[in-house]
Amino acid sequence: MIELVSEQRCIACGLCVKVCPTNVFDQIASGLPVIARQEDCQTCFICEAYCPVDALYVSPFADMEQDVTEQELEAVGLLGSWRKTIGWGKGRTTLAKIDETPFIDRILPSS
Ligand code: SF4
Ligand code: SF4
Repeated sequence: MIELVSEQRCIACGLCVKVCPTNVFDQIASGLPVIARQEDCQTCFICEAYCPVDALYVSPFADMEQDVTEQELEAVGLLGSWRKTIGWGKGRTTLAKIDETPFIDRILPSS
């Protein structure tokens, strides 16, 4: 569940507001997103993946709120960790590029 927007990191690009499939955020006049409907969060991590400055934290616990502070998340390197894990961001290799899952076209008999 989405838990935190870092006002210090956010550059008010509005991407998280646009990509959230369940309209969890509102964008206030300053451009900052606010978590307006946390209960609608699907824990899909899309907002965190798209945020270009690692300003969001989505907790893996989908059904319960987690009490976190920005300082705690920074200390353990969790801000932006999902984006890093999936290889999004400049100079990174995406998981899709290294995926070796045998899709159907790769396992069909040759004749
Ligand atoms: S994790 Fe998914 S559903 Fe939740 S706020 Fe982010 S984009 Fe929206
Ligand atoms: S995607 Fe990140 S930088 Fe852009 S508005 Fe959302 S939190 Fe701020």
